[in-house]
Amino acid sequence: MDIVKGNMGWIEVIVGPMFSGKSEELIRRLRRAEIARQRVQIFKPAIDRRYSSNGIVSHSGLEIASELVADGAEILEKVQARTEVVGVDEAQFLGESLLDSCTRLADLGKRVIVAGLDTDFMGRPFEPMPRLLVVSEEITKLLAICARCGNPAVHTQRLVASEELIVVGAGGMYEARCRRCFESQLAAEKIEEEKKLQANSKAASG
Ligand SMILES: [Zn+2]
Repeated sequence: MDIVKGNMGWIEVIVGPMFSGKSEELIRRLRRAEIARQRVQIFKPAIDRRYSSNGIVSHSGLEIASELVADGAEILEKVQARTEVVGVDEAQFLGESLLDSCTRLADLGKRVIVAGLDTDFMGRPFEPMPRLLVVSEEITKLLAICARCGNPAVHTQRLVASEELIVVGAGGMYEARCRRCFESQLAAEKIEEEKKLQANSKAASG
């Protein structure tokens, strides 16, 4: 951000697919705020317990202590008056209330830094991130590297059979794909395959 006069708050958003380094970028910014002796609080959804229950951990192993919340509204309850910088990781799991919480914290003069997926496994907008982009002062869109061809990757490819919007996981369940290699229907096709296999095995055994 450019130099801001007075204690004006703002919202920074870091978006991109999985494996694009969003958590690392969030941690980098929060570390710098801590070095500047600013009071920092960090939140992440309770749903994401992949690596550590009380720390944001990126795929590369960087870690910073965080608090778990059920939704965006809980962040507003937990932010202390003296906190100057609020970080949020995996924000796509925090629901509609995140929008209001971030706006109110920025209005109170706090710097709010939010990282999250902007699209889901089908390549569709992943709310509330798209709407958060609209009200933010600064947007950083990161790209990953396509696991198939090595080009810049904008998509998160789900490799397992599930139609659920939220399936938390990392290695083996998802990979980054470029525009050309992304298969938006792959997860749905895998479900069809599994159903057929199950039907066949039932027919064979019965
Ligand atoms: Zn590719």
